[in-house]
Amino acid sequence: MELIDGKKISAQIKDELKEKVAALKESGKEVSLAVIQVGADPASSIYVNNKKKACEYIGIKSLSFEIDENASEDELLGLIDRLNADDSVNGILVQLPLPKHMDENKVIERISPLKDVDGFHVQNVGALCVGKKGYVSCTPAGVIELLKRSDVEISGKHCVIIGRSNIVGKPMALLMLRENATVTVCHSKTANLKEICKEADILIVAIGKPKFITADYVKDNATVIDVGIHRDENNKICGDVDFESVSPKCSKITPVPGGVGPMTIAMLMNNCVESVL
Ligand code: NAD
Repeated sequence: MELIDGKKISAQIKDELKEKVAALKESGKEVSLAVIQVGADPASSIYVNNKKKACEYIGIKSLSFEIDENASEDELLGLIDRLNADDSVNGILVQLPLPKHMDENKVIERISPLKDVDGFHVQNVGALCVGKKGYVSCTPAGVIELLKRSDVEISGKHCVIIGRSNIVGKPMALLMLRENATVTVCHSKTANLKEICKEADILIVAIGKPKFITADYVKDNATVIDVGIHRDENNKICGDVDFESVSPKCSKITPVPGGVGPMTIAMLMNNCVESVL
């Protein structure tokens, strides 16, 4: 069994981006990302901070906007309009989730698709669907990079994805199709989940349930990618996969933490750099 080291691969990507950003600066181009946080949810603050730190490391200018939790949706939409019109801003990110009185879809659709570095705008999702250029959602894009940089062959392989969310499962399926995998998407209504998973050469798990996938779901020598992030009963971080029982069966597997997690920010930074290319 070989570990797919997301920490190492994401560090490589960030170093590559740092060089690109330095070269862009020399040619007079600056990369900038506007990050909007509504309210002060502690988990969101950690994510926002990590994004700012990554920007700083790579040399991307990050602009922070903090909006009060009780602010109106119009106030947020107005800020997005101003940032859309500002040529010095390349990327715009609204940290989710938003307070309940705001409509997430409406807010995402307001961001210019050309600045939607999260890849959530319908225009970018549609572009991915029909094979056109656009921003790709960061977590699934990170999974593709992990597989490619770990020499996992994708073309012609059977990839089973568990989860059909808009930010992970669905774009993941489209990306694996683009890489010529044969793709099966499973979800909460799938019958015979275990039997289907056992046919996977590549099993991608984004189910949102701690340690759900045990060894009896996994074919010998499969590659397993665990997107889940949770805290277990001992307050230790774990994934959707029961690493202890599954890892001895795999040819390659991502750990949690240190697998998919660090790739999401690396791919966000990649989208920011692409926004000026
Ligand atoms: P979600 O809750 O939106 O989607 C979960 C999916 O799993 C759903 O499509 C559902 O149909 C499916 N599902 C639920 N129960 C099932 C069952 N018993 N059998 C089969 N399918 C079932 O979650 P999400 O936003 O896609 O995230 C999934 C996991 O990935 C979560 O643990 C989340 O924290 C994590 N996540 C990690 C990153 C990262 O950067 N590493 C990014 C996003 C999400």
